[in-house]
Amino acid sequence: MKKVNSPLIGKNLTDLKEICEKHGVESFRAKQLFNWLYSNDIKDFNDLTNLPKVFINILKLDHCIHPLEFVQSTKSNSELTNKFLFKTRSGSLIESVLMNEGNRVTLCLSTQVGCALDCKFCATAKMGFKENLNSGEILDQYLLIRQKVKKPITNIVFMGMGEPFLNYKNVIKAAHLLHSPDGINMSTKRITISTAGVIDKIKRFTKEKEKFKLAISLNGTTNEQRSLIMPITLKNSLDDLLDASKKYTESSKRWLTFEYVLLKERNDTVEDANRLITLLTEIQRCKLNVIPYNEIDGEFQRPNQNQIQTFMNKLRSARFPVTIRWSKGTDIDAGCGQLAIKNNSM
Ligand code: SAH
Repeated sequence: MKKVNSPLIGKNLTDLKEICEKHGVESFRAKQLFNWLYSNDIKDFNDLTNLPKVFINILKLDHCIHPLEFVQSTKSNSELTNKFLFKTRSGSLIESVLMNEGNRVTLCLSTQVGCALDCKFCATAKMGFKENLNSGEILDQYLLIRQKVKKPITNIVFMGMGEPFLNYKNVIKAAHLLHSPDGINMSTKRITISTAGVIDKIKRFTKEKEKFKLAISLNGTTNEQRSLIMPITLKNSLDDLLDASKKYTESSKRWLTFEYVLLKERNDTVEDANRLITLLTEIQRCKLNVIPYNEIDGEFQRPNQNQIQTFMNKLRSARFPVTIRWSKGTDIDAGCGQLAIKNNSM
């Protein structure tokens, strides 16, 4: 049987030091290797030019560099949004989306193949859950895309396929690797993790004082209404979610973003806007980001312009900041909630 070498991308300094120790290599080489893996755009072992040949030969015995294989990319009509397709070593396909807005270049990363949460309005949910991505597979989306684009990537959002907080350890490890000053060196302020509301992980994120930005997909203003579109609410009630959110902002003193996908006749009434004001006024340092629904099939619709405007006008009296996000790249199914691999056997 052919031996499967484990990829180096995704390993942190501690992992690399362990590899060095195992083979009797001086531990400072681990830091050098870390720097090579994350600060440089490398394709294979030949690119590691200033490491000793013996060390490289040792690495080659058990390892390869990249866990992902690039498959294809698709540009939106505006050319501002680009969707990338990758294959994992287990043969699964995943997507990432790169969005250009002025000086800001935001990359949206997938954290799972498919998703278990079954949010009724999301295309990824229709795939069901296939598998968790490991830290290397999450991070390699960034590294391989960085090799392909000219403009530096300025922001990362964990808002692609999957629920990041149901793959907590790997997502947090990847986020720390993105932040590490010895490697990619991206500020924690530019890294946002979005959750559908996995309360025990929000509590853990709070307790462990993670500095990355947190976003919570609210999408409903009563427990009943939210349960209908987000079954996760049955085990993670709206009250408990808001309570955990409040405790997060109080403990971390950080801002929290609530996302709210606006669905015609489901959560778009003036009463909903009023309830949002009441619920979120309780939480210090929160923002609301309204996302007009991107259509994926016939079940839900985007409210018309008038209705969106009425909803937004009502929110003007809120004491918290409110923004609206028009998803980019809907023409190539790269908008929020549109990521789904229709044929998973390429
Ligand atoms: N599972 C995570 C991250 C992925 S979804 C989460 O739920 O936060 C990223 C954002 O897109 C979420 O706020 C989600 O509510 C929103 N979304 C999902 N489907 C959508 C759709 N069809 N149109 C607009 N936004 C959508």
